[in-house]
Amino acid sequence: MFAPRIPYNPAMPQTKTYADFKPQVLILGAGPAGLLCALTAAQRGLRVTLVDASEITARKLRASGGGRSNCTNLDVGPERYLSANPRFPAQALKRYPPREFLTLLGRLGLSASEEDHGRMFCDQGATPLTDALEGACRKAGCRFLLNRQVEAVAADPACGFRVETDKGPLDAPRLVLALGSPAWPALGGTDSTSRLAGGLSLAHLPARPALTPFACTGAMLALCRELSGLGLAARISCLGKTSTDGLLFTHQGLSGPAALQISSHWRKGEALVIDLAPQADLRLLLRDPAHGRHLARTVLAGLVPRRLGDALLAALPPELAAAADRRCAELSKAQMQALADSIHAWRVTPSGTLGMSRAEAASGGLDTSQFSPKTFECRTLPGLFAIGEALDVAGELGGYNLHWAWASGFCAGQAV
Ligand SMILES: Cc1cc2nc3c(=O)[nH]c(=O)nc-3n(C[C@H](O)[C@H](O)[C@H](O)COP(=O)(O)OP(=O)(O)OC[C@H]3O[C@@H](n4cnc5c(N)ncnc54)[C@H](O)[C@@H]3O)c2cc1C
Repeated sequence: MFAPRIPYNPAMPQTKTYADFKPQVLILGAGPAGLLCALTAAQRGLRVTLVDASEITARKLRASGGGRSNCTNLDVGPERYLSANPRFPAQALKRYPPREFLTLLGRLGLSASEEDHGRMFCDQGATPLTDALEGACRKAGCRFLLNRQVEAVAADPACGFRVETDKGPLDAPRLVLALGSPAWPALGGTDSTSRLAGGLSLAHLPARPALTPFACTGAMLALCRELSGLGLAARISCLGKTSTDGLLFTHQGLSGPAALQISSHWRKGEALVIDLAPQADLRLLLRDPAHGRHLARTVLAGLVPRRLGDALLAALPPELAAAADRRCAELSKAQMQALADSIHAWRVTPSGTLGMSRAEAASGGLDTSQFSPKTFECRTLPGLFAIGEALDVAGELGGYNLHWAWASGFCAGQAV
């Protein structure tokens, strides 16, 4: 049924031409989605070629998790993804759950350990993970055409699909789009998927930065700079979404997992409501007779790191600052509530985000209704597949984006 497998030969790229290795499957993009698709297809005996503009494979994967690669999450499920078609990821996630990826890691001689929130980090780090995957692909017979820019793609009845690159044309009967999103261009993010979609008459939803830090201006920026480097656990809410995780003050505004997470939902002009002490209830503490003789500012400041407590107290409006200087037993209910709100419902309206330049992912992408959620094959162009971030599927922070790359890559690799 499948073409005979070509044994791995490290010298092949130098000694054989592209024509000698006419691929049955051409994968555009050697990121995590493209690599897993290639490995799966090659292990089925198919001749696979990957094309990538970069000189090295999977630059985002190599940088993932700050170099430690938060490579999957034990809590994976469709509700963890943003998509105009929220059920689309469900089948692939079911067919390729985290344990499948962890088994693959084991076969590659690697392992992963769980940290908080089900997040699994590769024990050996992101670069060994990428090298092991690339090595497995090469061993399975995949051919890599690196440093090669894809410029255009068209369906061609004579050969299936024709791909124009800066180093000449390529063609194959099966084509996989795994070119990712425009997020983080310094690591290879491009808008190629949306540009190529036009040539294939495919609908593409506009890309928006996701998982990106917030920028602030004015007094808030001054405060962020003063507190730069300070991190704490916080709960951030915006537009009906909530994220409880680390918050980090930076020289530009707010970052850390909770801020990155909520940025995917934020819209310009919206306020973030931040609970700076989600583990406590300041109103209850102020009412507690045990604190009756304590100054309110002492109780408030005890809930957050000292630098932040000082900064919050200094920024209180004069009448609330006066209340903070009184003993808890002397405060009215309204004053207690207002003081509690200053720490549990701190309102910050960012001026914007750092955008695509620092986005770990992008929402938007190829409209998923054009693709099978089982095989990732295009409904209108048989033989064409799309996987990973090229599709309109963006995960939450915590290993979900890489898991989407693995799951979609695996399912397409089984089907090409
Ligand atoms: C700094 C950073 C840290 C991250 N950390 C994590 C993490 O810890 N956990 C997690 O789950 N997710 C993380 N992510 C997100 C995750 O890396 C991406 O979701 C994932 O890489 C998407 O995989 P992909 O294969 O679909 O696309 P990509 O990884 O973007 O791969 C696409 C490939 O296509 C190539 N390409 C693009 N345009 C062209 C063209 N015109 N011609 C030829 N080649 C082209 C690119 O060079 C690239 O190699 C992180 C992202 C960043 C930026």
